[in-house]
Amino acid sequence: MESYNSFNVAKQQILEAARLLNLDKATVDLLITPQLETSFTIPVRMDNGDVKIFQAWRIQYNNARGPAKGGIRFHPEETVDTIRALACWMTWKTAVVDLPLGGAKGGVRCNPKEMSELELERLSRGYVRAITPLLGVDVDVPAPDVYTNPQTMAWMMDEYETIFFKHSPGVFTDKPLQVGGTEGRRDATARGGVICVREACKAYGFDPTKDYAIQGFGNAGQRAALLHQEILGGGKLVAVSDSKAAIYNKNGFNPTELVQHKLKTGSVANFPGSEKIPHEELLQLNVEILYPAALENAIHSENADKIKAKVVCELANGPTTPEADLILFDKGVHVIPDILASAGGVTVSYFEMVQDKTLYFWDEDEVHRRLDKKMYLAYHRVNEAIKEKKTHPRLAAMLVGVARVAQACKLRGWV
Ligand code: GLU
Repeated sequence: MESYNSFNVAKQQILEAARLLNLDKATVDLLITPQLETSFTIPVRMDNGDVKIFQAWRIQYNNARGPAKGGIRFHPEETVDTIRALACWMTWKTAVVDLPLGGAKGGVRCNPKEMSELELERLSRGYVRAITPLLGVDVDVPAPDVYTNPQTMAWMMDEYETIFFKHSPGVFTDKPLQVGGTEGRRDATARGGVICVREACKAYGFDPTKDYAIQGFGNAGQRAALLHQEILGGGKLVAVSDSKAAIYNKNGFNPTELVQHKLKTGSVANFPGSEKIPHEELLQLNVEILYPAALENAIHSENADKIKAKVVCELANGPTTPEADLILFDKGVHVIPDILASAGGVTVSYFEMVQDKTLYFWDEDEVHRRLDKKMYLAYHRVNEAIKEKKTHPRLAAMLVGVARVAQACKLRGWV
C-alpha cells in the first residue's frame, strides 16, 4: 500500500494543477509552501493536580484572498504534516466556493475522549492564550473540526475577548447561537455535500432514492444521514460506521433513531436491528451514494477498486489517496471532492462572520437559501472544469481553487 504523508499528497495536487494552469515557478513555489506556521506547547493543569504539556499547531497556509480560515482538531495522532495538508486544502476549499477568505488549520495532539470537560476547557483557553496575537477577525478565524465543537469555540472566544477586553465574536465560528453563532451552521457541511449530490443526480442521472452508506458518524455523518432523505426526497441508509463499529441493515435504518442512539451511547454499535460488518465492507457495498465522513486516506489503492458506489461524496478532508482517485476515475465513479463537497461548513462560517460583524442575524431559511446558491454555483463551476479539461473531479476542483488563489497572489504583487 502507498505510504501517506498528507502534505506530500497536497503538494502533488498543486503541482498537477499548476502544470495545467501554466503557473510560473515563483507562483508554484509560493503555493506549495505554508505562509506562517506556529508550533507551540500548552501546559494544562489536569484534574489530578499534575501539569501535562500538549503539543499544538496553527498553520496559516495562504491569506491572499482574505483572513486565514479553518478548524482546530483535537486528535491523539495529530502531526504537523496533517495540519499542513489540511491548512492547504482549506485554501482551495474557500476559493472553490468563492469566499473572501484564505486557508488555515490548527490542532492539538491530545486524546479528548480521556479528558474531563474542565481539562478540555483549560486546554482550549490555553490554545488561545498561546497564540492570541495571531488570531483575529481580520487575521485568522478558527472553527471546530475533528473532536472539537461549538462549546470549544465558546471557551476560545471568551478567552480571546477577555484578553482584549472587548467583544469580538467573529474571531471563532460555529459558536453556540447564544454567543454569536448562526442558524444553520451545525448541519452546513452535510447540507453542502447533499446539495452537491442533488446536482450530480440531476446532471448525470444518478438515483438519490436508492441505497446510501456513511463512513464516519460524527457531526457531518450524522447530519448527512438525516439531510440525504430530507433534501433528496428518499434513499435508504443501509450502512454506517464509527471508530467502534460498522453496521448494516438491508431494509435501511431510521436516521433519526440512529442519531439518537449514537448520541445516547456514544457509538452506532448495537443499534437494534443492525448486523455488525467489518469496517472495510462498508466501503464496498453496492450502494448508489457513499459518504466518507471520517478521516484521511480511507479510500486507498487497495480498496478503491472494490468500491461499487456510483457517487462518492467526500464530507471528510482528504479521504481518498491520489492512487485511489485515478482508480475511481477509471471505473467511472463520480467523486465529489472534499474541497467542494465539504465546503458548506466554511461557507456558513463565513455567513457567521458577516452576521457577527453587523450584529444582525438571519433566519434559518436565509442561511439555507444563500448556502444553496453558493454550493450550486461551485458544483457547476467544477463540473464545467471537469468537462473542459476532461479530468478527474479533484483536479478540476483544484484548478478552480488554485487559479483563484494564484490570481489574488499576482494582483497583490507577491509573484
Ligand atoms: N473544519 C471545517 C472544514 O474543514 C470548517 C472550517 C471553518 O468553518 O472554518 O471545512
